[in-house]
Amino acid sequence: MAQAQQPQRKKIESTGQMMKIMSDYFYDLNDAAKSETRKVAWCTSVGPAELLRAMGFAVHFPENHAAMLGATRMATELIPEANTIGYSPDICSYLTADIGAYLKKVSPLSKAYPGIDAPPRPDVLVYNTNQCRDVQDWFSWYARELKVPCIGITSPKNFTDVTEILIDDVTRQIEALIPTLEEISGQKLDLQRLRETVALSRECTELWRQVLETATAAPAPLTFFDGTIHMGPAVVLRGTRQAVDYYQQLLEELRQRMADKVGAVDNEKYRIYWEGMPVWGRLRQHSELFADLQASVLVSTYCSSWIFPDFDAEDPIRSMAKAYLGLFIVRSDTYKEQYIKAMLEKFHIDGIIYHDAKTCPCNSNSRYGMPQRLEQETGIPSLVISGDLNDLRCVSDEQTRTNVEAFIEQLEERK
Ligand code: SF4
Repeated sequence: MAQAQQPQRKKIESTGQMMKIMSDYFYDLNDAAKSETRKVAWCTSVGPAELLRAMGFAVHFPENHAAMLGATRMATELIPEANTIGYSPDICSYLTADIGAYLKKVSPLSKAYPGIDAPPRPDVLVYNTNQCRDVQDWFSWYARELKVPCIGITSPKNFTDVTEILIDDVTRQIEALIPTLEEISGQKLDLQRLRETVALSRECTELWRQVLETATAAPAPLTFFDGTIHMGPAVVLRGTRQAVDYYQQLLEELRQRMADKVGAVDNEKYRIYWEGMPVWGRLRQHSELFADLQASVLVSTYCSSWIFPDFDAEDPIRSMAKAYLGLFIVRSDTYKEQYIKAMLEKFHIDGIIYHDAKTCPCNSNSRYGMPQRLEQETGIPSLVISGDLNDLRCVSDEQTRTNVEAFIEQLEERK
């Protein structure tokens, strides 16, 4: 496809501020791990982070570390380390990369943040299986290795509606974590502090939603690839003032772009929805590939998964249960299809890319006929690209390029 001009990658000015608060976060975690008085909890990405924070834990998210291993392209060489101790190359490549990094005693943190050698040693590991079983296996390995307690929530799965019965179940499971956490932290849960933390999570999530929804504008002021970077504070600093302040700043910048009609992709011509995980080691290449074709990948299920409208400071624990159950990944295909259809309409989408990630079946929604069903109902074409979030041996750059170019040609013919 002929290109009129080389696209510009537009820098988001707030990136500097984001990098600063992420740096502060990692140094604080490192200090907490060395401190005599502070305790460290590891938490899955949609685990009970609000509870942990309200109880004074410094909270580390191994998935964030694993994504850094992917983005720095360290993961592919580390995965075989975990394979040799019995963790299959077919299971979550976050898990295998992270355990591989532990075994090899390496971390991307040491390059990014001088003085930090590794993720902080945990005092407790807390999971929620709402996303997959792999997180429990992952944390259980560390529990055995480091001899620390591992507790969590075993979530219901594949439901369409978040019913009161399901909320009761998860509420009780969250409540059951409290005595162990109190014992480890050495302090009683302060309900007022939990309310404040949940209120901050609610505020953060609301701002993050507004940030992502700026992409309803044409041209869209940010892309999915920008979103994967700027979601950092929503993932690791949910429930803090820093995250709220950051998204206020980012939102202001993006609204200015909207007012000035500045698109993240020059001469935006095609509007694309991304379904599934990013390929962390190919963020830049994919961003450039689509921008070259005047295609803006402007919205995704993945980035939108950190929007939790159900947090409610008036009813903190129950609302946490509701929020964690509302997550896209834990829902039935019926719900997922309704959700995606609404997103296609809201963001005026021309085409969908499904990333079939080899080692993450839970986040790969192209395997049970969804693309065909949605295409039949909406008329919006789709393309499935095979790859992986972290294991670059599963990624064929040539095939991805050829398929994406052909797909955009197809969209062009429909215009
Ligand atoms: S959802 Fe996928 S990427 Fe995330 S922890 Fe589970 S298997 Fe790994």
